[in-house]
Amino acid sequence: MEKFDLRSASLQEICAFMENIGEKRFRGEQVFEWINEKFVDDIDEMTNLSQALRAKVAQHGYISQVDIAHVQTSDDGSTKKFLLKMQNCGIIENGQGIVFVEAVLMEYRHGLSLCISSQAGCRMGCDFCATGTSGLLRNLTAGEIAAQLYKISKAQGRRISNIVLMGMGEPLDNYDNVIKFIHMVNHPKGINLGQRHITLSTSGLVNKIYKLAGENLQINLAVSLHVPNDQIRRRIMPIARKYSIDELLDACKEYSKNGRRITFEYIMLDGVNDSKSNAVELCKRVKGINCHVNLIPANEVPEKGYKKSKPQKIMEFRQILEASGVLVTQRRELGSDISAACGQLRNEQNKYQT
Ligand code: SAH
Ligand code: SF4
Repeated sequence: MEKFDLRSASLQEICAFMENIGEKRFRGEQVFEWINEKFVDDIDEMTNLSQALRAKVAQHGYISQVDIAHVQTSDDGSTKKFLLKMQNCGIIENGQGIVFVEAVLMEYRHGLSLCISSQAGCRMGCDFCATGTSGLLRNLTAGEIAAQLYKISKAQGRRISNIVLMGMGEPLDNYDNVIKFIHMVNHPKGINLGQRHITLSTSGLVNKIYKLAGENLQINLAVSLHVPNDQIRRRIMPIARKYSIDELLDACKEYSKNGRRITFEYIMLDGVNDSKSNAVELCKRVKGINCHVNLIPANEVPEKGYKKSKPQKIMEFRQILEASGVLVTQRRELGSDISAACGQLRNEQNKYQT
């Protein structure tokens, strides 16, 4: 019989597992708490279970291993990039039980924010992004997504107050595991992280945005719009060949019902999407949507050849948006000296795996 992945199980699933092995349901609650509240990753650390019971649990189940393999800190100390090794004995196809992903911890005035990965690699292939260059290795399990938070919080000895799903991968391309992860970290018997403290960023998988809207979650949605016209968007984001901007914005409107405000991310690429007429086009597009626009000065990925827009251009772009009443913020450029900024996370370590 295949062993049961305790790290990726919901409370109900662990309780059912306990019953299946002839134990009481409430034992499942204890195991769930050990993993998701106390952050243990060894069944033997579950000291309110007898040794015999721990042995039985270990015979039928396992906790997939997530380890911090490397840490880099930015010069100003505000940002740390973690390389995480994911070792899942339940995933053996293609020899991809072991993969490496990255997570980035940022210190803000209001607390710690962690940018986590949803996949090892990504198959969306956006032309400006380092993550997409080697394609998708595999989806992370719900537990592997959550464990990034648990491990790093434990290592720092501090609570992390915000999570952004903006690391490696396209979260909506790993839909079921991402939804399960949200329920896991939101659970009162786990770390009880409020849904409003979670932001999911997508490159625009329209069908999945509708599905997400139907889940009635309170999470924030960020959409990587990046270009206000289909012609250029199709050139740099393959997903735009499948869904037009009109279709994408209709899905966003649906999501923004119930008072949820959308963030449109807009990467500023020199000479590609940063002209005054692009700004005017963008205003027309987002008019009437409950949203704000987050301008991201592009992080340069050497082999991609894109350049970051000039500060003057970014300022003018911003002013045009503001003048027409669009809410705008500009992303701080944290962590670029350690390649921890958006779009700079890549799969270097994975190349060495067999
Ligand atoms: N796959 C999701 C989330 C991960 S990428 C998405 O695309 O939205 C997180 C953000 O970083 C996205 O807005 C993405 O477009 C942006 N990004 C990618 N490459 C970048 C780069 N070189 N410079 C700045 N931002 C980049
Ligand atoms: Fe994937 Fe997002 Fe990078 Fe596009 S920007 S390749 S969707 S991680």
